[in-house]
Amino acid sequence: MVELYIDYRRCEGQGPCVDVCPVDVLELRPPAHDLPLATQLRVRLHGGKQAFLIGECIGCGKCVPVCPTQALTLYE
Ligand code: SF4
Repeated sequence: MVELYIDYRRCEGQGPCVDVCPVDVLELRPPAHDLPLATQLRVRLHGGKQAFLIGECIGCGKCVPVCPTQALTLYE
C-alpha cells in the first residue's frame, strides 16, 4: 500500500498539491508541529498554513511533482 509522507520542515503551504488532488484529501491548515525558525518564516510568508492529509490518499502521485519545495513523498 502506498502512503504519502509530508515533510513539515519543507512544506510552506503554497498549496498546489491541494489543487491537483483528485480526491480532495489535502487541506491547508495552521501548522501543528514544532518547526525550525526558517520554516516558520516561510510558512508565514505564504499565509501561515501547511498541507495536511485529511482523508484516504489513493496514491496517484499527482501532488508530488507540483510541490515547489519537494515536501511530498510517496512510499510503500
Ligand atoms: S498522491 Fe494523489 S490522492 Fe494522494 S494526496 Fe497526492 S494527489 Fe491526493
